[in-house]
Amino acid sequence: MPKPLDWPCCQIAVHVPDPQPDHAVIKWYPSSPRAVRVRVRDYTCACKPTFYELCQSGGQYFIRRTRRFRQKVVIEESLWNTQASVLAIWSSLLDGTGR
Ligand SMILES: [Zn+2]
Repeated sequence: MPKPLDWPCCQIAVHVPDPQPDHAVIKWYPSSPRAVRVRVRDYTCACKPTFYELCQSGGQYFIRRTRRFRQKVVIEESLWNTQASVLAIWSSLLDGTGR
């Protein structure tokens, strides 16, 4: 019987690996409603307590981090930046060189 905060594994999205010992530290900021429309371009599996979404709004990109623990959900964002800059951060999340 799953606990209330457990989400089933979608079997499609990637699972973020444990960070490498010398990983870069990504700065996270409280999520704020900056844009009416945000498109999710990629995402990691929500079966984990922490999952990530690569988001685009207009010409800007950012990563949204959702953390679920106990009865709380905390949503934060990386800095908004160019596609190339944010894709580099996204790649670091997926290969464990950034967290
Ligand atoms: Zn999963």
